[in-house]
Amino acid sequence: MVEQLVIIGSGPAGFTAAIYAARAQLYPLMFEGFQQGGLPGGQLMTTTEVENFPGFSQGIQGPELMREMRQQAIRWGTKLITDDVVRVDFRQRPFTIASEEMEILSQAVIICTGALAKRLHIQGEEQFWNNGISACAICDGTNPLFQDVEIAVVGGGDSAAEEALYLTKYASKVHLLVRSNRLRASKVMQERILNHDKIQIHWQALPISAHGDEVLRSITIQDQKDQTISELAVGGLFYAIGHTPNTQIFAGQLELDEQGYIKTSGKSTATNIAGVWAAGDVQDHLYRQAVTAAGTGCMAALEAERWLAES
Ligand code: NDP
Repeated sequence: MVEQLVIIGSGPAGFTAAIYAARAQLYPLMFEGFQQGGLPGGQLMTTTEVENFPGFSQGIQGPELMREMRQQAIRWGTKLITDDVVRVDFRQRPFTIASEEMEILSQAVIICTGALAKRLHIQGEEQFWNNGISACAICDGTNPLFQDVEIAVVGGGDSAAEEALYLTKYASKVHLLVRSNRLRASKVMQERILNHDKIQIHWQALPISAHGDEVLRSITIQDQKDQTISELAVGGLFYAIGHTPNTQIFAGQLELDEQGYIKTSGKSTATNIAGVWAAGDVQDHLYRQAVTAAGTGCMAALEAERWLAES
C-alpha cells in the first residue's frame, strides 16, 4: 500500500500540515517521533507558558497547545505513528520512510523535524530547566521568575544579542557570557549591547554549574583565560548558543545549508526533490516561532495538495 502523504515530525509545523492535508482528504500519516530530536510535540513540550501564540489571550501551556493541535489533526483523520524515522529513500517514487519497526511508501513527504536548542549540560541544568534556565527569552522572558532580577545570557551571536536586549525589559541587569573575546553578532547588534547600560559583557567566561532551591539563585562561572571561578547571583540563565536542526537522516539526499538546515526554494517550502517539502524550524534558523512554523506547515500542505493533484 502506498500512502499519499507522510509527515515526519509533530511540532506546530507538522500538526498544521496534518490538519490542512487531512481536511484536503489526503489521509496523511504522521511519524510523530519518539526519542530522536526531543519529545513528540517538539520544543513546545518543554516550554511552560506560551503567551504569543495568537488566539490565547491569557496564554496557554506549551504541552496543552500541542495536545490541542494533535487532537485537531486526529479529528480530521490524521493517522499517527509514535516512532522515530531512522531512514528515508527519496531517490525514487514512491519514497520510502522507515522506522525500526516498519517501512512505509509514500507519494509525497513533508519534513517537520525541527531543531534543538543547544545546551551546555552544566551541573544543575536539569534541576533548574524551566525554573530559571531556558533557551528562549522570547518564550520565557515574561515569567515572573525573571522580573527585576539579574539574568545571565550565554553566547555572542545575533541570538544572544537579541535575547540579552529583550531581557533588559524585565531584568534588573543582564550579564552576557561570551566564551571568546569577540562577538559574532552583526555590527548593529554589537553596538546596541555594548552601549546598553543594563548589559554587562563578561569576556571569555562560561557557566559551569547552577545553584538554588526551588528556583535558580546563582551560577558559577569560569574564566577561560586563567580558569579562575566566581559566583554570579542570577535568577535566570538563558542559552543562546545556536540550534541543531534535526536533519541527520536527510543528509546526502536533500540539499542542506552550511549549518545543516534544509534548503527550501524562494517563497515556498519545496526542497530540491520534487514531492518533498520542509516546514518549521528544520528549514528556518531566523524566526523559529511556533506561529511561523505553523504558517510554513500550512504552506507545505497546500503545496503538496496541489502537486499531488497535478502529478
Ligand atoms: P551563532 O552560531 O551565530 O552564534 C552562536 C554563539 O554561541 C557564538 O557566539 C558562539 O561562540 C557561541 N557558542 C557556541 N557554542 C558555545 C558553547 N558551547 N559555549 C559557549 N558559547 C558557545 O548562532 P545564533 O543562534 O546567534 O545565530 C544563528 C544564525 O541566525 C546567524 O546567522 C544569525 O545571524 C541569525 N540570526 C539572525 C537574527 C536577526 O537577524 N534578527 C536573530 C538571531 C539569529 P563562538 O563565536 O566562540 O563560536
